[in-house]
Amino acid sequence: MSDYRLKGETGEWEVVIGLEVHAQVSSKAKLFSGAATAFGADPNAQVSLVDAAMPGMLPVINGECVRQAVRTGLALNAAINKQSVFARKNYFYADLPQGYQISQYDQPVVGEGEVEVDLPDGTTKVVGIERLHLEQDAGKSMHDQHPKKSFIDLNRSGVALMEIVSKPDMGSPEEAAAYVSTLRSILRYIGSCDGNMAEGSMRADVNVSVRKPGEALGTRAELKNINSVRFVRQAVEIEALRQIAVIEGGGTVDQETRLFDPSKGETRSMRNKEEAHDYRYFPDPDLLPLEFDDAFVEECRGTLPELPAEKKKRFMESYGLGAYDAAVLVADWEIANYFEEVAKHGDPKQAANWVTVELFGRLNKADKTILESPVSAASLGELLGLMADDTISGKIAKDVFDEMFETGKGAKEIVEAKGLKQITDSGEIEAIVDKVVADNPDQVEKYRGGKTGLIGWFVGQVMKASQGKANPKMVNDLLQKKLDG
Ligand code: ADP
Ligand code: MG
Repeated sequence: MSDYRLKGETGEWEVVIGLEVHAQVSSKAKLFSGAATAFGADPNAQVSLVDAAMPGMLPVINGECVRQAVRTGLALNAAINKQSVFARKNYFYADLPQGYQISQYDQPVVGEGEVEVDLPDGTTKVVGIERLHLEQDAGKSMHDQHPKKSFIDLNRSGVALMEIVSKPDMGSPEEAAAYVSTLRSILRYIGSCDGNMAEGSMRADVNVSVRKPGEALGTRAELKNINSVRFVRQAVEIEALRQIAVIEGGGTVDQETRLFDPSKGETRSMRNKEEAHDYRYFPDPDLLPLEFDDAFVEECRGTLPELPAEKKKRFMESYGLGAYDAAVLVADWEIANYFEEVAKHGDPKQAANWVTVELFGRLNKADKTILESPVSAASLGELLGLMADDTISGKIAKDVFDEMFETGKGAKEIVEAKGLKQITDSGEIEAIVDKVVADNPDQVEKYRGGKTGLIGWFVGQVMKASQGKANPKMVNDLLQKKLDG
């Protein structure tokens, strides 16, 4: 299951990780009410009588949320259960006015599936999906608004969540992080969740255990509500090391829920793990079972776009990209679209390189996303075109790109205005070469005396004299002829 060994003095331990990801369904209305779900509204501005659990209110299923859950199941190569049941999960909490959460228990909407995960080293790994079920989110307690009181915001109460439970198939912090990234990417491709972890649209409960190779699964701790890919990686690493220290110190790991504190770099016990029987699950008598026919499932399947894994294969096959580049480009569908537009204008490998190195570098520095790029895909394509037909050299192209990025101007416009067109006229280049040769008799002598490595220096001089505009290959050929001849 796992081939990961934590490095260091901790010996040969295997780490085992399984994740429960909560993903908010992209839907205008809540799972069982018509209240709005937009992020950032004033507290309690989006609460219907159902969400506030007024006596006698009845939940009504939102068909759009069901459709999104089915589409997500299909995108995870999972079995769609033709019949599923909503159940009440009973517990008391101030932000849960109903006194129970409507969830799904032994009959979830989606069953087993699998996801192909791209790892940072360019390889892939298949992670099993245990189930996906629909449930309501709870409200939020606010303890920082008043010195003596706590407030409750029920805006999130009743918002539709998909809980996506993985098998304990991941074996390292990197694999766990890559799984979350891949899942996020798939959800964003199909539009079933916006994947915005900072706004809480996606969060993960991370289960971690350790064992010696060949042993049965160890006791796990569950790290609650981790809200970034980076924190998933850190939390696994820190928790695994903690468990190893406990066991090697002669102790045992407790099955419990823990809190990951990124600022302190530690995990802390929150409470003992509840068991299913603590919740007294039972089918919700207010809701009928969900029943689908084949036509509905096929209709959902028909709405799926090309998914990241398929797109990656296509990018490798039809553009000749390597696995790593292809994986980077397909992770976001906006980036994949941008790349394909650029690639129309030039060599695909060069296009990939310009997007992942030059464009990403500048976007990172400017703290912008691809959607905020000052250079459109068509405009970058135009720049690649100018390189392809030898109008400008690669080196000049980078300067032009800087200016495009800063001013939003087009490539041709800048090249024209600044007179950056490459010199390909052999007479013009020859004149510069002759001058450089005539001005540097000492270097010429050294070259002819055997220091042929000086050719690079001569090329540099000619390029400098031409303000970088001479065609480098022609410069090289002419110099060789003059110096050797
Ligand atoms: P519960 O319903 O109590 O949360 P589940 O058995 O449904 O428990 O498992 C929840 C998650 O924990 C799943 O993602 C599963 O892969 C993971 N998991 C189960 N056992 C282990 C283990 N020994 N080590 C790591 N993860 C585990
Ligand atoms: Mg659970």
